[in-house]
Parts: sequence; C-alpha cells; structure tokens
Amino acid sequence: MLILISDAFDKGLSGKLSKFGEVTDDKNRVNEADVVLIRSKTKVTKEYMDAAPNLKLVIRGGVGLDNVDLEYAKEKGVAVHNTADASSIAVAECAFTLMIGITNHIGRADSSMRNGQWIKKELKRTELYGKTLGIVGLGRIGTELAKRAIAFGMTVIAFDPFVESSDFAEMKSEMKDVLNVSDYVSLHLPLIDSTKGIINSETLKEFKDGAFLINTGRGKTINEEDLVDALKSGKIAGFGNDVWYSDPPETNPFTELPNVLMMPHLGASTKENLLRIGDIVENIITEFVK
Ligand code: NAD
Repeated sequence: MLILISDAFDKGLSGKLSKFGEVTDDKNRVNEADVVLIRSKTKVTKEYMDAAPNLKLVIRGGVGLDNVDLEYAKEKGVAVHNTADASSIAVAECAFTLMIGITNHIGRADSSMRNGQWIKKELKRTELYGKTLGIVGLGRIGTELAKRAIAFGMTVIAFDPFVESSDFAEMKSEMKDVLNVSDYVSLHLPLIDSTKGIINSETLKEFKDGAFLINTGRGKTINEEDLVDALKSGKIAGFGNDVWYSDPPETNPFTELPNVLMMPHLGASTKENLLRIGDIVENIITEFVK
C-alpha cells in the first residue's frame, strides 16, 4: 500500500504510518497512491481522482471537505474521511485570538513600535468584558468559542438553523436577531450553497453600528468588496480574518485598511492539533485496513 502525504501534517506521522506500507510525500506518485492525506491545499477534483487509479481512501486532516469532489469520489468508490473533532479547540482559540487582537489593535501597535512610532493616544483598546458575542454557526468550533467568551464575561448569543438549544449560548431564530445586537460577530460556517456570500451589503446593514466581525470559517461566506465598504464607512469597526477566497488569496482587498487583522489560514495549525489529527488518521487507516 502506498500512502501519499500530500499536504502539511505532523513530521512524525510518516514514521507512524510506515507499519501500513510505503509512505511518501512525492506528489508525482499520486498515480500509485492507495491512500492520500490532504489538508486544505490539495484539491481532490475529478481530474485528480482520474489520475490516481489505485486510490481507495482520502483523509482530510481537518473539517471542511469543500476541496474534495465528494460526488465523484462516491461514484468511483473512493472513501473520504475527515478528522472533524480534532481542530475545534485550535480554531476556537484562533477566533479568540483575532477577536482580542483586533479590539486591542495588536497589529497596529506592534508595527508602529517597529517603525519607531509612539501612537499611544490614537490607539484606544476596547474590553471584551460585558460585550455581546454573536456566533453564526454553533457547531463544534462555535461552541468552543462560546465557552471561552463566557469565561471573559461576555454575553453569548447564536444563530444556527440546525441547533435548537445550547448550554453556552442563547439561540436566536433568525440571523438578523444576532447581527442587530452583537458587538462581535464570529462566523463558523461551512461553505455550502446557502452560506456562500451570506455576509453581503444587505446583511451588513443588519449589524450593530461599529460591530467587529471575525471569520475563521470559510472566506467565501463573505462578499469581500461589500465588507471593504462597510469597514471604510465605519459600519464595521474591525475585521479579524483567517480564511480567504483561495490560499493564498489572488487579490487581497484588505491590505490598506488599518482596522483589519489577518492570518494566513492558521486556524487549525497548532502543534497539538497536528498531533491529534495524526492519531485520528492512524485510527482511520487501521479501520480501513481491517
Ligand atoms: P460543524 O459542522 O460542527 O458546525 C458548523 C455549523 O454551521 C453547524 O452546526 C451547522 O448547523 C451550521 N450552519 C450551517 N448552515 C448555517 C447557516 N446558514 N446559518 C447558521 N449556521 C449554519 O463544523 P465546525 O467543526 O464547527 O467547523 C465550522 C467550519 O469551520 C468548517 O466548516 C470549516 O469551514 C471551518 N474551519 C476552519 C478552519 C481554519 O483553519 N480556519 C479549521 C477547521 C474548520
């Protein structure tokens, strides 16, 4: 059996998997691979699967499966698994990092010091304590974020059409009921037809004036141009972002805006998460071999 590690995983994983067969990171050997391990970079399209006649199993280290053509995989009899539970804490901490970073002007404070500036008067921080956090998409990651926000003394509300109640957030029946009152809105949505561009010029009007927006879900759930307008007008006070239209983004409309804090899709990239993902990958292959 040939296992192709196509994207970045924990360095020790290759050694752990060698008991199952040969392990390679040579992408040119996809035509021989029985198992392919991917994260978000490799796109397992129809063409990719057609070029891999031995392929039987694709494992996505992480949550979103939007980089795999699931219908064609089913047609070809290629099993597809993800490691959905592993990343929740890592991504929730990333969303929290962006929320606390943007509201404390961490990016501007740091770069101004490096440039020899002292902009103490210009930078007024805002406390999270006593503020309302609105979570859109209260799944695994949204719930982990809610727990952390409660510890900071925030009121947590959420919208998720598939979640009726939660121990960690007051559920609202419509998204606008969350957007209307939240000081911070954090998106934890999968990229599906109903969520594509869900934050746009119309829904941005529903936000409280001067709210902060955080996105660690998927880039395409936001219409970036509409958000740029809202950031320029001050309707949205700040934006913390980890996810993009593509990795890396072909064009980035936020680079000139001081009230934006950006990360290069690092949500799941903690050392601890890569180890957790590695353990789950090992279990999936063990079951598969059985
Ligand atoms: P999850 O499936 O547990 O939660 C997603 C939630 O979104 C579900 O509860 C679902 O009911 C809800 N939802 C679906 N459509 C909705 C809508 N229109 N409005 C409101 N809620 C809606 O998934 P998760 O593990 O919490 O991950 C969430 C997303 O985070 C993933 O789909 C992935 O795109 C993203 N993610 C990003 C990173 C990163 O590195 N930044 C890492 C892992 C996952």
